[in-house]
Amino acid sequence: MNLGLEGKVALVAAASRGLGRAIAEELSAEGASVVICARGEDELEKTRAAIAAKTSVPVVAVKADVSKADDVNAVIHKALDVFQRIDIVVTNAGGPPAGPFESHGAEAWESAFRLTLESVVNLCRGVLPGMKERRWGRILNVTSIAVKQPVDNLMLSNSLRAAVTGFARTLANEVAPYGITVNNLLPGYTRTERVEQLAAATAKATGSTPDVMRAKWEAQIPMGRLGEPREFAALAAFLASDRASYITAQNVAVDGGWIRGLV
Ligand code: NAD
Repeated sequence: MNLGLEGKVALVAAASRGLGRAIAEELSAEGASVVICARGEDELEKTRAAIAAKTSVPVVAVKADVSKADDVNAVIHKALDVFQRIDIVVTNAGGPPAGPFESHGAEAWESAFRLTLESVVNLCRGVLPGMKERRWGRILNVTSIAVKQPVDNLMLSNSLRAAVTGFARTLANEVAPYGITVNNLLPGYTRTERVEQLAAATAKATGSTPDVMRAKWEAQIPMGRLGEPREFAALAAFLASDRASYITAQNVAVDGGWIRGLV
């Protein structure tokens, strides 16, 4: 299937590793020019070089913390400076800290808000004027299976991702007349550093070990295994493509069957 991504420009946030990196690799392999960002310059540059070495399309890296509005603006300006357009934006960030209600004070809620919700709003604010002008755009938000079935011990993530879901559903209606789609990608348990951290935190909270936690998750997944980042990235490439022009306002899980709901 030709996804029609050649010549498109994609900004993928928080992409030095994990799901963001896998999406940047996939979009680049499909011929899109890619701008990636993350906080750590060394890892980001290594990722940029590795993606660029595999494809012939440009890959640009900008050091940025997406929880800071100025950094988000700097990434957008760099992308527009180099490519004059952003056709696809993938909003993504590290997950907020795990823990139950009692473990998070006001500051933790404030930072989780900036990281998980405000970063999405700021990225959308930066890309939408150009998308509207060109009457084409794709906004993909990396959220979580937690929006359909909250995950224990993830108070901050469960709460703030619900807010992103409300934001995205409302925005989808507002921008649909401009040929812009807004969809949320819901990763299930996928083999990245975040999942290793979660295994360690949950093990600590429950007096268990990370190995036992992983086995417990696998037992809850009908496919019997964790997902691979490239399996998640394949969905992103499709939803970013021309072929997905009539799919908007959706929440699509890549979870090996973990969510037990009917729809
Ligand atoms: P990861 O920890 O492997 O990678 C996170 C990436 O985000 C890294 O490149 C890191 O440098 C970057 N990053 C972190 N904070 C940032 C910030 N403030 N500004 C810019 N870049 C930042 O995580 P992942 O597994 O790829 O997860 C991505 C998102 O998906 C997270 O929000 C996570 O909570 C969510 N999620 C992941 C899973 C999973 O199983 N992996 C499941 C559900 C939800």
